[in-house]
Amino acid sequence: MGENIIPLVDERVAAPVPRIPATLAPPSGRVVDTLGRPLRDLRISVTDRCNFRCRYCMPKEVFDRHYRFLPHAELLSFEEITRLARLFVAHGVRKLRLTGGEPLLRKDVELLIGQLAALRTLDGQPLDVTLTTNGSVLARKARALREAGLQRVTVSLDALDDAIFRAMNDVDFPVGEVLRGIDTALHEGLAPVKVNMVVKRGTNDHEIVPMARFVRDRYGPRVALRFIEYMDVGATNGWRMDEVLPSAQVLQRLQAAFALEPLAAAAPGETAERWRYADGGGEIGLISSVTQAFCRDCNRARLSTEGKLFLCLFATRGHDLRALLRGGASDAELAAVIGDIWSARGDRYSELRGLQQAAPGPGQRRIEMHYIGG
Ligand code: SAM
Ligand code: SF4
Ligand code: SF4
Repeated sequence: MGENIIPLVDERVAAPVPRIPATLAPPSGRVVDTLGRPLRDLRISVTDRCNFRCRYCMPKEVFDRHYRFLPHAELLSFEEITRLARLFVAHGVRKLRLTGGEPLLRKDVELLIGQLAALRTLDGQPLDVTLTTNGSVLARKARALREAGLQRVTVSLDALDDAIFRAMNDVDFPVGEVLRGIDTALHEGLAPVKVNMVVKRGTNDHEIVPMARFVRDRYGPRVALRFIEYMDVGATNGWRMDEVLPSAQVLQRLQAAFALEPLAAAAPGETAERWRYADGGGEIGLISSVTQAFCRDCNRARLSTEGKLFLCLFATRGHDLRALLRGGASDAELAAVIGDIWSARGDRYSELRGLQQAAPGPGQRRIEMHYIGG
């Protein structure tokens, strides 16, 4: 089947090489885009490969043995990633999140974490370095990650019911092993842990309350469970609006089972609307990317596995920073390019989707989640 699918190589090579500006303005730590949004958060995809085939992300009919993943030479090296991350930090980035694909499958990823954890903001503060993982090898890796300087982890877990979880990851992976990963992460001090559950109506929506109860009873405030609306990312998951369960309905179901109180946003640009259990049993979050756009505060940039800079999760095009890196650009030139790209940014896909104005143009195709990172 994979032979008949157009691989995503088209988009990968199509990214333009950014122009180096004639005057190289040094980074001020406060770059803003055309909508006044600062650059604060950089998500770095360290591999496009994954050992799961979640149907909403990498359906196995497409990502089968014929699918051409990036060869190693195409990936940014750890030194290249760290060099770029330092320049993003000079523009104001304070948070780095490693993602993928499955980031823990990238060989020696803890060495990269060590390099990133050593970076400092312009005013000398350590960065918030974190990682999103499917948890499959977390039990084995948690200690090395923490020793390398990782502070927290986010673990994706879509169901507690083993049969549903195995069907959703579509590689028959057992839920118990992911729970062991969460336990080990907490034991090693990678806390608080966030657990992300993508809700698909008709697939795992009846797991909402059991999942909340389980997390609350087993972990209390050490784990924050977040419910994510199933999104129309990429072009392969066959997304349909009727499979989205709006967060408002998730909240109704939770409120029927627990006494909840709203919490104020912890930081500007925060994606989750947070609620806490009235009895102090912890908190939950609702990420309503489909029904309630949060573009107005979006301060996130994404660096793909092969060094393309994307300004939106739903972008159809990246900016090829690797070509500049490998073409011998200086730090000053790269920093000026990054500043220029962010200054020109006007992306607000989810808001436009809400206004029914967000379809990709002719010949355009949205980039896949496993390549750009979540
Ligand atoms: N493999 C890691 C994992 O699953 O945590 C990291 C990469 S994954 C692309 C990052 C996050 O994106 C995960 O929490 C996953 O559930 C979420 N995700 C992927 N496809 C999605 C979709 N169509 N809608 C909503 N969330 C999605
Ligand atoms: Fe892999 Fe994460 Fe995508 Fe699932 S969501 S297929 S674990 S990259
Ligand atoms: Fe940010 Fe794009 Fe998501 Fe809007 S749609 S919140 S701009 S990533």
